[in-house]
Amino acid sequence: MFDVAIIGCGPVGAFAANLLGKSGLSVLVVEQEARPYPLPRAVHLDHEMMRLFQSAGVIDRVAGDMRDTEGHLHVGADHGVIRYMGTVGRARPFSWSNDYFFYQPELEAHLRDALGVYPHVELRLGTAFAGLTQDGEGVTLHLSGVAGTDTVRARHVIACDGARSAVRKALDIALDDLDFEEPWLVVDAEVDGPVRFPDLSGVPAAANLQTLSVMVCDPARPTTVVPGRGNHRRWEFMLLPGEDDQAMMAPNVVATLVAPYLDGVPHRILRAATYRFHGLIARQWQRGRVFLAGDAAHQTPPFFGQGMCHGLRDVANLAWKLERVTRGTAPEALLATYQPERDPHVRAVISSAVEAGRYICLLDPAAAAARDSRMRAQAQAVPQGTAADLIPAIATGIVARGTAGAGERFIQPRVGDRLLDDVTGAGWRLFTRRPVETDADVITVPLDTLADDGAIAAWLDARGADAVLVRPDHYVFGTGEGADLIACRDALIADTHREVAA
Ligand SMILES: Cc1cc2nc3c(=O)[nH]c(=O)nc-3n(C[C@H](O)[C@H](O)[C@H](O)COP(=O)(O)OP(=O)(O)OC[C@H]3O[C@@H](n4cnc5c(N)ncnc54)[C@H](O)[C@@H]3O)c2cc1C
Repeated sequence: MFDVAIIGCGPVGAFAANLLGKSGLSVLVVEQEARPYPLPRAVHLDHEMMRLFQSAGVIDRVAGDMRDTEGHLHVGADHGVIRYMGTVGRARPFSWSNDYFFYQPELEAHLRDALGVYPHVELRLGTAFAGLTQDGEGVTLHLSGVAGTDTVRARHVIACDGARSAVRKALDIALDDLDFEEPWLVVDAEVDGPVRFPDLSGVPAAANLQTLSVMVCDPARPTTVVPGRGNHRRWEFMLLPGEDDQAMMAPNVVATLVAPYLDGVPHRILRAATYRFHGLIARQWQRGRVFLAGDAAHQTPPFFGQGMCHGLRDVANLAWKLERVTRGTAPEALLATYQPERDPHVRAVISSAVEAGRYICLLDPAAAAARDSRMRAQAQAVPQGTAADLIPAIATGIVARGTAGAGERFIQPRVGDRLLDDVTGAGWRLFTRRPVETDADVITVPLDTLADDGAIAAWLDARGADAVLVRPDHYVFGTGEGADLIACRDALIADTHREVAA
């Protein structure tokens, strides 16, 4: 019996397998395709993902292919700026740039290759999930592949099988529809030179249009222009009412659409495909021993480039819980905190993307002009945040609610020439000003032993606390006095058992 079976080896499944493989669990990954999907969908990820790649031991493989970027710029109907979410000069709380662009097939290849270092992780390609049953001990999976059918057993299953998830359907789990659906044409190209933006106005001096994701909210044709790694570039064009998907993918139509940005710039179109951008969230993320993660659990309009990021956060949340439950150091019921922690988090960010989608996709010129005036007034009244500010704290589950900073993502300062997590490891960590006796599964880090230039002391000062307990997924459990925090954590984990039993 495998400890965990993962259905689907897209980015979320492959990342989950790395995290679980690193923690020593036996893992089966089942992927229906013989080869990885060759075209990029996601192009952007944020700094939390770089930190998670550190945790999974894959950062050295993936970092070289990342291109750091400087945030998002939205322009209105007159092509003047209406919203600037720039990251130039902003704090880098995890010591990584705030945002990166990447090429999804390369990332997926790195994540798959990395599995080769774990003899206890098996990747079965060309093998599809065909059904399941479960009992008190585990899950029986029915699989089908070129060699025929097979059954395997696993204690727990993570369904990372994408938007059309066969596992979600087999479990008869419905999706909440956030009432947003718009068709967009996605064009990828290799471009040998800077992209042109001849008619934009009001662009802040610090903003470099070549390294920003630029959203042109022009009711004539809402368009996103996104840098990629190397010479890869992405355009997304909204389809207008009555436009036909097939006709819009025709090379001459694509050439006309990209022409204003590429006048005189040598380029090759790699692909053009239409997608429906929508906001959908599964009503249940857990059924017994089976968990939905990634696009199987939720889909977002890609306006802040967060779809895959949500999925990586999902499995980072699940992985440490699965490890403890499998090793018998936490009750099975700890896993019931997965959806309560992740669902509100994902819902908040998808709701922000849907809200942005509603103003981006306006096609009525009068409504677009009114939006532009409103957003410019708002931008003057309230300081503009970055996309990272959209990510909320965890508010329920294994967090010491009511203590300062609980549920936030903890900082990762540099410690000498290394990064904090590389020095401490990524388990439960207690950063404390005073010595504390703890049980074995918490790494105690007295602040006076850490060459972090006082970064964590300053973080604690700002929250009026002596110690902070940080979870393995880098979210703050809570702040206060060290021994109390650990006792509170143990009580909360024990309570999950009682809550589920009730
Ligand atoms: C145009 C566009 C732009 C986007 N931009 C961004 C962005 O910038 N940033 C971002 O974070 N996200 C972005 N996304 C979203 C991102 O691409 C997805 O969230 C991400 O790919 C989901 O990963 P996943 O592993 O959950 O699912 P998938 O990538 O869909 O992988 C699912 C895997 O499961 C396999 N599978 C399916 N059924 C079975 C079965 N029955 N048995 C076995 N295997 C099976 C599939 O073959 C596939 O390999 C974008 C999406 C689109 C469409």
